[in-house]
Amino acid sequence: MPLNPEIAARFEELQDIRRHLHACPEIGLETVQTVSFVKAKLDSFGIGYEDIGVNSLLAKVQGRGPGKTVAFRGDMDALEINEETGLPYQSGTAGRMHACGHDGHTTTMLAFAQYLADHRDFDGTVLLLFQSGEEGFGGALKVIEDGLFDKYTIDCMFGLHNWPGYATDQIVISRGSCMASEDRFDLTIRGKSGHASVPHLCVEPFAAVADFIKGAQTIIARKVSAHDKAVISTTQVHGGSAYNIIPDEVVLRGNVRTTEGGVQDLIEESLGQLAQGVAATYGVQANFVYHRKHPVLTNSLPEPAIRAAARVVGEENVLTDELPAMGSEDYAFYTEHTKSCFVWIGNGTDSPVIHNSKYDFNDQVTLVGASFFVELLNEVMQQA
Ligand SMILES: [Zn+2]
Ligand SMILES: [Zn+2]
Repeated sequence: MPLNPEIAARFEELQDIRRHLHACPEIGLETVQTVSFVKAKLDSFGIGYEDIGVNSLLAKVQGRGPGKTVAFRGDMDALEINEETGLPYQSGTAGRMHACGHDGHTTTMLAFAQYLADHRDFDGTVLLLFQSGEEGFGGALKVIEDGLFDKYTIDCMFGLHNWPGYATDQIVISRGSCMASEDRFDLTIRGKSGHASVPHLCVEPFAAVADFIKGAQTIIARKVSAHDKAVISTTQVHGGSAYNIIPDEVVLRGNVRTTEGGVQDLIEESLGQLAQGVAATYGVQANFVYHRKHPVLTNSLPEPAIRAAARVVGEENVLTDELPAMGSEDYAFYTEHTKSCFVWIGNGTDSPVIHNSKYDFNDQVTLVGASFFVELLNEVMQQA
């Protein structure tokens, strides 16, 4: 595999960086120590940076002359999981773990930064965004709210994620959507409480809840096209306190995923109609609230990434026909502001899945990822 030789030569140094980050996981927007560590590395490379969002960092590498502005994003946050790898560099904090490989993504960005510091022979500007709070904390939105796209005219943006189940010399690049949207809903059904022996004197909320749960699956089966992908899952039902009391209120919560933006609209509207429908049928009050958490991640600029990946891992190892994942990524928010591509790099065919207590980032991905970013920058800068 033609990895970038300068990056490959730093394997042990990069592995040490990654293991240090792995041992010091930080959660959500509180990536304070990680940011200090990244700043010290960028200082040693002679690369300037600014704070952005909440404990995110934007490094800037200016090339030899004016040209495009190309951004790359790596995430830094860990998860509230108790690590069970037993590795010598395992998490030093109980209940926190780098179980999604963001320690490796940060290292990959540093490897790329170090290479760029030594090779400023490009026209334009490279922005390296080290982002906090990817795991459901709105880190990308904080960066956008803090003016990333107001301060900079970003021509295009790229990101990557390690992906268990593929070999480390495989890169997955979708020409369409690659990760799903995530939405959440809350439904409060209010009836009238009373003794369990006289339901006719009460307004019983559970029948409406049951119809709503079943009806939601009918939306998938009967309203969403068989060609589109969508999932609605009821994940919480709370209500009642005794064997012999019909309660006033039941609260139901759930999660919606789809890989098509139009389907997201359809589901939001249909769930709202369903809630009002069951309310009318059973004489209860329904308060339905739908929250959009992450948009669909769609690649609008896959071709340069496909060409760059082929140069690193060979054309036969660039997979462009894989199904999108139903998981979501807050990188998707950036795709609403600029052209973009987000790729997966194999973390090994025998790797435990991400978010598993025995998962570990494969350090080979750092070499593949940083080599890929170098080639990708060449691709997009050439297309002036
Ligand atoms: Zn994750
Ligand atoms: Zn992740």
